[in-house]
Amino acid sequence: MSKFTKTQKADLARALEHRGQQLRDDVRTMLLQSGDEHYTQLAGRVHDRGDESVADMLNDLNSTLIDRHIHELREIDAARLRMVDGTIGRCISCDGEIGHPRLMAYPMAVRCIHCQEQFDKTHHHEITPRL
Ligand SMILES: [Zn+2]
Repeated sequence: MSKFTKTQKADLARALEHRGQQLRDDVRTMLLQSGDEHYTQLAGRVHDRGDESVADMLNDLNSTLIDRHIHELREIDAARLRMVDGTIGRCISCDGEIGHPRLMAYPMAVRCIHCQEQFDKTHHHEITPRL
């Protein structure tokens, strides 16, 4: 169980919600801008539905740009689950505490800043955007 206060958890939940909303809006804008009728219809549905189903719904779309948003929506879902089971704020690499300021800046963080730096060094190719 993380040692965050109720207020800190509420802040985190809000940050996650806000980020999810932002992503859905972005995806919707991208779909609308594509000018494709099918995508325009999808855009309407993105607006109405929750994050989980949005990620699933968009999974079939062959778009690198949207792909990255889907990835992030899934990370948000995972972070919400960690909120529920109380493991949010715990580094998956060293089991140490992820600071609240770091989580507020990046609510989906699963590693403390030190482990993330190590991870990025060794997995750099994985965080490079696909073209
Ligand atoms: Zn760590």
